[in-house]
Amino acid sequence: MKKPLIAEMISVGTELLLGEIIDTNAAFLGERLRDLGIFVYRRQTLGDNLERLVAAVKEASSRADLLVLCGGLGPTDDDLTREAIAAAVNEEPYVDDALLRDLEAKFAARKRAMPEGNTKQAWLIKSAGALANPVGTAPGWYVNKGGKIIVALPGPPNELTRMWCEQVEKLLPASGRVLYHRTLHTIGIGESDLAERIKEFTRLDSPGIGTYARNSGVDVRIAAAGESTDKARAVAEPVIREIELILAPWIFGCDDETVVSAIKKILDGRGQTFSCMESVSGGVLAAEITDCPGISSCFRGSLTAYANEVKIRAGVDAALIRQHGVVSAEVAVSMAVAAKKMFHTDWGLATTGVAGPAPLEGKSPGTAWVAVSGPNGESAAFVDWPGDRAVIRKRVCRTVFQSFLNAMKESR
Ligand code: AMP
Ligand code: MG
Repeated sequence: MKKPLIAEMISVGTELLLGEIIDTNAAFLGERLRDLGIFVYRRQTLGDNLERLVAAVKEASSRADLLVLCGGLGPTDDDLTREAIAAAVNEEPYVDDALLRDLEAKFAARKRAMPEGNTKQAWLIKSAGALANPVGTAPGWYVNKGGKIIVALPGPPNELTRMWCEQVEKLLPASGRVLYHRTLHTIGIGESDLAERIKEFTRLDSPGIGTYARNSGVDVRIAAAGESTDKARAVAEPVIREIELILAPWIFGCDDETVVSAIKKILDGRGQTFSCMESVSGGVLAAEITDCPGISSCFRGSLTAYANEVKIRAGVDAALIRQHGVVSAEVAVSMAVAAKKMFHTDWGLATTGVAGPAPLEGKSPGTAWVAVSGPNGESAAFVDWPGDRAVIRKRVCRTVFQSFLNAMKESR
């Protein structure tokens, strides 16, 4: 069997180490390499330091077939990726005439004189080919030496992604493996409970199974590598089907589906609509809903009714607020019913709770009620999830979506 291609990644830049920017390039490259069947074994971040960079490039390329570096291709003295690669492979950089002319033309087109420092962006070494940069000044490098490949990409994500997709992927040799993977999304079950239910599978060598707790719920990722997609699929699919059966009560979608796109699919299928009245979620519920493209097919709108008087004006019974407190199942249900009426929808969703940090009406931060009003009645669910305001709002949204999915299942 042909061997898989093994890769490592190095992100370069002191700003990454200091936490000033987040390494989105590594996330992007990780996904792309996965889809190419290339196994990423290791990934590291280094500051702008020549000695450490040279050592890392040498080490990584002694272990891996492919080393991808990003960042450090700028014109300034602290951008050292070219210098590091040249030193690591023991070659002398030179100014490439064609690259220099390109670079000068780019500056001329912007009616600017080219600073001397930019000259190093026209450097090459003997084993490197240049990767054109249509949206920036720094060309990338594609180094092929002694059976090892080193790719250097510019740091700005828009430059890196174009260069990678349009050029690098076409140059890379095929990996001996294909990865077949699916991610099942669940809601309403905790990670350890879920793991316990599928433990006979998580011990398998292949497919590999991972569980990840995310904002939307817990994801289960099932992946198998094989010589061909068919072979990898044949290993993964039987296990995927068994896991789907076990987790059926909690699965709402797979791969690119989100909880909102799953809700949209059900509502569109039934020709129904929904709306919200939000208190504690303060518009975050509407924001999450409208993140889903095409949601206008079933979502009519949301009212942020933060103050009690606004709730009352929107149709919530004032007596319920007096009697049960604003953070109560009764008020949540009344809000959901009012939303349904106000927006003329089949379903109404509502949130009311304490985002903190101070308690409200004796109730502690993180306590909330959410409600769903549908064609066949109302339901309410209690949330008790301490955290900061952002965490609490997200948790409230998750509980609303979960309640909504359950209510829709029951009204089938
Ligand atoms: P550099 O090529 O190192 O000069 O990086 C130029 C700019 O690209 C940085 O200032 C960041 O804004 C961005 N950048 C560099 N590396 C990354 C990365 N790994 N992820 C996201 N953005 C990055
Ligand atoms: Mg830099």
